Amino acid sequence: MSPTTGLAALERHGALVPFTFERRALRPHDVALDIHYCGVCHTDLHMISKWGQEFPMVPGHEIVGKVRAVGAAVSKLAIGDSVAIGVMVDSCRECEACLAGEEIYCHAYPTNTYDGVDRVDGTRTRGGYSSDYVADERFVYRIPANLDLAATAPLLCAGVTTFSPLRHWKVGPGMTVGVVGIGGLGHLGVKFARALGARVVAFTTSASKAEAAFALGAHEVVLSKDDKQMAAQAGRLDFILDTVSATYPLDPVLRALKRDGTLCSVGLPDKFDLSSFTLAMGRRSLASSGAGGTNVTREMLEFCSANNIVADIELVRPADIATAFARLEKADVRYRFVLDMRR
Ligand code: NAP
Repeated sequence: MSPTTGLAALERHGALVPFTFERRALRPHDVALDIHYCGVCHTDLHMISKWGQEFPMVPGHEIVGKVRAVGAAVSKLAIGDSVAIGVMVDSCRECEACLAGEEIYCHAYPTNTYDGVDRVDGTRTRGGYSSDYVADERFVYRIPANLDLAATAPLLCAGVTTFSPLRHWKVGPGMTVGVVGIGGLGHLGVKFARALGARVVAFTTSASKAEAAFALGAHEVVLSKDDKQMAAQAGRLDFILDTVSATYPLDPVLRALKRDGTLCSVGLPDKFDLSSFTLAMGRRSLASSGAGGTNVTREMLEFCSANNIVADIELVRPADIATAFARLEKADVRYRFVLDMRR
């Protein structure tokens, strides 16, 4: 293999700097791809600042590219195919979750696309802010021909993380669904909920995003900092998809649920700020969800192909990653930065 070039944080809180490393030689079921695009997920910020295990760390788990080489036993992909990789690149493959194609819930924990530990040789995985990747074909997805490659990259994390709970909680016609936080995940949540046939209410802290949320497919937009607007939502919603990355007062949002409604928080805040009474008085459920296994990832890509859904992106050069991170921190992106790894 030739050396891989990328961007790495050399230490916790470190800035991303050019970094060179080696990818593994192809195993029989491996696919090597040249990376064209990689989405910038808020998780990348969390990983560099608090969750990361080992540095240098090369982030990136919304990867799109073209197959450059295949191992001897690869059967589903060929050189030249447009493919994608999401948040995981391996799992135990034996537990009940893996056998069900829900590898993200692998009982032995899936191997993360970056900062994970390779199950064969024990090395740290390095992500898609780089020129190429090598992964087992089970975790490499073919991209439907009608989807724009750059705008497909965010589907591999932001997309499946929002599509999966909407499908699990059977969102569809006749339901009113809230999506909280109109960022990378949330804007796709709005598009998916609308395409699934629900009435969609977008909740945003950013007045400047209100008009745009209608364009994404929201039927209604609520400014969540406005107490009056929040009170008017009480008892209306069947399901809420909360994508907010920070801890914030959940009670006003929970009160928007009908009796027996569910709020699924996928934003991974450090902790929840709520009163148990708000759950009790309405028999409401607070739930969460991981990104999604290989089955739902494939289903999501087919759904996107059939419904012409991709992310709204701002394409940036790797050299501009510091600006992109700073703007992402301030919720100032419409709606996902994607790195053009060929520039
Ligand atoms: P993002 O683009 O920054 O979007 C988050 C949005 O939340 C912001 O755009 C903002 O929307 C809203 N928000 C931010 N701070 C807020 C606050 N203090 N109070 C209320 N609203 C606030 O981030 P993302 O990439 O979508 O990721 C969101 C979170 O999901 C991250 O924490 C990430 O780690 C997590 N995540 C989880 C999984 C999983 O497996 N469950 C997978 C991927 C990502 P408005 O401007 O509209 O208010």
